[in-house]
Amino acid sequence: MIKKSRKVRDYKALTKALPTLRYLNPPSVFIHLQNGRCKTYDLTVKEGDHVDVGEQIGVRHGGFFEQPVHATISGTIGKISKKFHRTGRKVDCVEIVNDHKDILHNLIYDRTDEEIAALTQEDMVEIVKEKSLVGLGGSGFPTYIKLATKEKINTVVINAVECEPYLSSDYRLILEHPGRVVTGLKYIMQALKCDNAIIAIKSEKDPLFQVLTQVLRVRFPELNVKVAKLGNHYPQGWEIEVFRWALGIEIPHGELPMKYGVIGFNVSTAVGVFDAIKHNMPVIKRYFTMTGDAIKFPQNIRLRVGTSVKELIALCDGYIENAGELLVIMGGPMMGTSTVSDDVIVSKTTTSVIVLKNVDYKEEPCVRCGSCVYSCPAHLEPVQIMNAVKRNDKEVMKGLEAFKCIECGLCAYVCTSKIHVTDYVRKAKIKLG
Ligand code: SF4
Ligand code: SF4
Repeated sequence: MIKKSRKVRDYKALTKALPTLRYLNPPSVFIHLQNGRCKTYDLTVKEGDHVDVGEQIGVRHGGFFEQPVHATISGTIGKISKKFHRTGRKVDCVEIVNDHKDILHNLIYDRTDEEIAALTQEDMVEIVKEKSLVGLGGSGFPTYIKLATKEKINTVVINAVECEPYLSSDYRLILEHPGRVVTGLKYIMQALKCDNAIIAIKSEKDPLFQVLTQVLRVRFPELNVKVAKLGNHYPQGWEIEVFRWALGIEIPHGELPMKYGVIGFNVSTAVGVFDAIKHNMPVIKRYFTMTGDAIKFPQNIRLRVGTSVKELIALCDGYIENAGELLVIMGGPMMGTSTVSDDVIVSKTTTSVIVLKNVDYKEEPCVRCGSCVYSCPAHLEPVQIMNAVKRNDKEVMKGLEAFKCIECGLCAYVCTSKIHVTDYVRKAKIKLG
């Protein structure tokens, strides 16, 4: 039987109704010096040095950009060690041992509204670049590059759809700080000289609609911002889907949305823009979902970037009894990366960690049901790509356009035979470079 599905079972109820726990004073943090985009780095501090909150301690080098690295607590620089990153790889991290004084670096200061109103696009791009802001929904793409566009932007879209099951940190962020979200959006609109914006939420999230509509009406009557309720299917949060449903604009694969007069930012990134412009502050804190059926008390936590997930699990009362072998997923269950270790550190792009009882699904042979083909939002043929990977036939992988895969995970989710189809498509993408 064909299982065509753009719906996935949701587990947000585990965490979304609970107020966010604050965990802002950890004993130490581990700051990633490498990530998926930056392989090399320079550290400008050494073991034993004292650093302040927000102080630059080094720089990561990417292919075509550099990312300053900042301290997220005040304290003493410790050793460098290898820790898991969101990408599933172990990378170098530098420890900062907390002095529990929370001393702000002298470059952290508030700009007045008048000073902000006088900032040009170039000024804002420079601030956001210096503060090393990247896509905090998980993309990690440097925000200053998007903000520096010279294309005429007609609509800014804030993506607050958060379609991955289990995740509710964006939901709590909006509920608890709607003013910061909208102010961040206002700064983005100012930088891009754009008069229209949309905040896209999932249709079911009525409380967000109420809160945002009220804040816009009461505090920002001058802004032309609409709150758009989109569909409840997966992957509704994929940017291309957001533009299609919110604006009716179809962006072809490989084309930049800016060319079509639209630009999208994740809701956490909008708050990152607010912190950078208003407080001259890099991303030192974030909203984070700690959840999964192996966790006793799942919840959202506001934390310092660099916090150890082991400490967060302890905050959630640890693991359930007889949890057995665990599956640790960094990011959402559909698009995240899995490891078998909980020795993970929260980077600024880590939205969540999900720990599941590792039920060992036995893969069966493909029954050619076609479910993966019917469900793929990118209109690919995952089963054929899988077969091409097994034969190592690059020409066919290319002909089947495996490079268009957005790694949403739906093909594996719907597979009748429990085959990890997405893994094969990922392999095809890697083989195609
Ligand atoms: S092939 Fe890629 S885009 Fe299509 S369903 Fe699988 S993971 Fe999603
Ligand atoms: S890979 Fe799975 S979903 Fe796709 S055709 Fe085979 S059995 Fe069906």
